Amino acid sequence: MSSLFLDIKEFHGVNGFELRNDIVVAVAAQACLPILKLGLSHYDNFVGIVMHADSVVAPRERPDDVGVVHAYDEILAGEAVNGGPVMLSWNDIYSSAGQACDGPAYNVVIHEFAHVLDMRDGLADGMPLLPDSNAQRAWHDVFEPEFEKFCRWVDQGLDTAIDPYGCEGPEEFFAVATEAFFVTPEKLKSQQPDMYRLLASYYLQDPAE
Ligand SMILES: [Zn+2]
Repeated sequence: MSSLFLDIKEFHGVNGFELRNDIVVAVAAQACLPILKLGLSHYDNFVGIVMHADSVVAPRERPDDVGVVHAYDEILAGEAVNGGPVMLSWNDIYSSAGQACDGPAYNVVIHEFAHVLDMRDGLADGMPLLPDSNAQRAWHDVFEPEFEKFCRWVDQGLDTAIDPYGCEGPEEFFAVATEAFFVTPEKLKSQQPDMYRLLASYYLQDPAE
């Protein structure tokens, strides 16, 4: 599957970053893990993968409640935009490879490709493309209470299997929960079994097993 992935996707190294075989193979293998049972067609909505040597500083603007626009910098290890290329920082991929599993799971490739799967229905809302409205309702019934419970735990300062960054919104919760599902599955399964089962039913995989 990784070789097919490499055949249909286009890698670009930017700012002089030189792509090597071990780099593109590492990205392809990790990108294929979530779709092992779903198939490569789940990644049909993009072609390009933009690789940076390190994290990228992106200038952002956000209006506040009274309409004042605040400028700030966001540091990105990766980014996925609807229909557009997936951006990844090689340093963030490389340095997370030997990571101990004490803290919350971290895998930037799985994170960004979870966003790709989430956006297949056109919306980055934490719900991937599902077959029908019944499946969407069933997804909501599990996802919403699991998301709320998780945010409560983070507010209380508890250790979570899922990266606290997931509190940013349902789309980030889906992405970081997917990281935990594949990187520290036993931990996720014991802490949020319903969330684990929901992801297992979507990805058609049982990594804890
Ligand atoms: Zn994200």
